[in-house]
Amino acid sequence: MPELPELQAHAERLSAELGGRTLNGFRPMTFTALKTVLPAPDDLVGRPLDVVERTGKYLMLRFGDDRFVVHLMQGGRLTPDEKQSAKPRGGLARWTFDDGSALLLTEMAKEKRAGVWVVAGDPTDQAPLAGLGPDALGLGRDELAAALTGYKSMRVHGFLRDQRAIAGIGRRLSSEICWRAKLSPFAATHKLTDDEVDRLHAALGSAIDEALAFERGLDAMSSSAERPGSVYKRAGEECVVCGDTIRAVEYNAYTVNYCATCQTGGKVLADNTTSKFLK
Ligand SMILES: [Zn+2]
Repeated sequence: MPELPELQAHAERLSAELGGRTLNGFRPMTFTALKTVLPAPDDLVGRPLDVVERTGKYLMLRFGDDRFVVHLMQGGRLTPDEKQSAKPRGGLARWTFDDGSALLLTEMAKEKRAGVWVVAGDPTDQAPLAGLGPDALGLGRDELAAALTGYKSMRVHGFLRDQRAIAGIGRRLSSEICWRAKLSPFAATHKLTDDEVDRLHAALGSAIDEALAFERGLDAMSSSAERPGSVYKRAGEECVVCGDTIRAVEYNAYTVNYCATCQTGGKVLADNTTSKFLK
């Protein structure tokens, strides 16, 4: 799933490409693509696209005071639509502009979960953004400390991925950040020392900054295989810091990767909560 760096760079890319164009129309292509009834998408027709923004893992197309909010989920993509075919593969919704150009939301997945919300006015306290934690981009050390103590106690890896705790980070970056911070992904958030919070904050910032710089250098959003990293999906490879073998804890829906020498004092992690249910 694209995370903050991929989405932030993509919002900047779309802004540069489509900003200023006037909306001619919006058309959902499946029954579930548009998640809201009011305001009607047509209310935004005739207005110029001011900017494409990002908050958490959402993209927002701002037309005056109102916005289309888009979530790409796992396999969604929001891309300029040169062909404008009647039935595009994986097509969920299309925006058309007065100069004849268009923007297409697609999702290459059996179960379509990406979607579009039309939101009037300040989106902060409205669905789907209501309840998001502070954005991870530019998050200060004290803001991170407050988010850690102000939220239920959990494992650091789960906290980083929880959009209500802090917004924008997913499976890949959470493994990378824990490794950079030399913290066990299973460390309890309420038991972190000041030094560990410092390390977590520095790791969060550097992992995001590096991924954002990589992504800004591309013409289109990277595929997950292209994204650089040191631990995520590198189980069995050597840790570039210490040479130990990168390990994995497998869950149903995702994998946590880590280096035991760098992060857990050599302890091999096992998941006790779900492994007994898995054969
Ligand atoms: Zn290591």
